[in-house]
Amino acid sequence: MSEQTVRKIIHVDMDAFFASVEQRDDPALRGRPVAVGYAVKRGVVAAASYESRTFGVRSAMPSSTATRKCPTLIFVPPRFEVYKAVSRQIHAIFADYTPLVEPLSLDEAYLDVTTNLRGLPTASQTAAEIRRRILEETGLSASAGVSYNKFLAKLASDQNKPDGQFVVPPGRGESFVETLPVTRFYGVGPVTAAKMRALGIENGADLKAQSLDFLQHHFGSSGGWYHDISRGLDHRPVRPDRERKSAGSETTFQEDLTDPAKIEAGVTAMAADVWAWCEQTGSRGRTATVKVKWADFQQTTRSRSVSGRIDSPDILDAIALDLVRSVYPPRMGVRLVGVTLSNLEAGALCAAAEPRLALG
Ligand SMILES: [Mg+2]
Repeated sequence: MSEQTVRKIIHVDMDAFFASVEQRDDPALRGRPVAVGYAVKRGVVAAASYESRTFGVRSAMPSSTATRKCPTLIFVPPRFEVYKAVSRQIHAIFADYTPLVEPLSLDEAYLDVTTNLRGLPTASQTAAEIRRRILEETGLSASAGVSYNKFLAKLASDQNKPDGQFVVPPGRGESFVETLPVTRFYGVGPVTAAKMRALGIENGADLKAQSLDFLQHHFGSSGGWYHDISRGLDHRPVRPDRERKSAGSETTFQEDLTDPAKIEAGVTAMAADVWAWCEQTGSRGRTATVKVKWADFQQTTRSRSVSGRIDSPDILDAIALDLVRSVYPPRMGVRLVGVTLSNLEAGALCAAAEPRLALG
């Protein structure tokens, strides 16, 4: 395939994924404002149903804020096993169309269908067929964006959400981007967006009006990326072999803790969580890391590697406890602990990072 070949990229994104799975499995939740997460102090919303979004509830919002915005909000605890099973189902569907699938999370992936295994003439038809099969086989709706690169495909999948798709054909990328707020662009987080706003850059057209020099001066090495995307350019390939480099879990306590027994209970729970992932994916790692976030939000991390691999939950737990004990006596309250396993053995394909939930 020559470099000049126009690529056909689809970004598939399930609609309000966790919340939709809960509404699918419990008819009493249908049509009602649902948040997946825990309504505990410092809890966060992992996913919000469309009914709750009309009240302003969003994912990653503190549960307390969500409840204030929507007093009738129903909190449902997450069931990651079920979400992972659905994720496997949709990946089995993707595999019928292309081996070039790059997962972004449990419910989102890029597909390169420049040549598709079903011989469908257009990427748009391919996306429509994939969405139809997802609905038939899982009972859940998905949206899709179709374009000639990843940046545009991801923007496009949001255009007709939920249960819709949108195509940005070759030649239309630049004008499509012009009208969109920069907050929607990949690589523009809240801090960058605020900085751009201060410079008078609010949308794609504003961004395109800036020179490469100007963007590099203000945004350093990201300047080139912003220059490209304002023109609808993105040369990143779809990387099907993206491997997960680590598996981690962390928890924010309901209150800052100084009691070692309580801190260690948190560490043990997180180690067990990480081990559950190991069991499920058949992965094993060599390095364990414990993170402690203090009341002042500073954090301390401690790591240890073993010569072979950490191959039992008891060993992981023992190492994690040893590591957390190395920061005693706690210099102030502990707000959060996390356990991460890295140096994973090859073969643990990216299973997608899960949102961090406050387990309280
Ligand atoms: Mg989604």
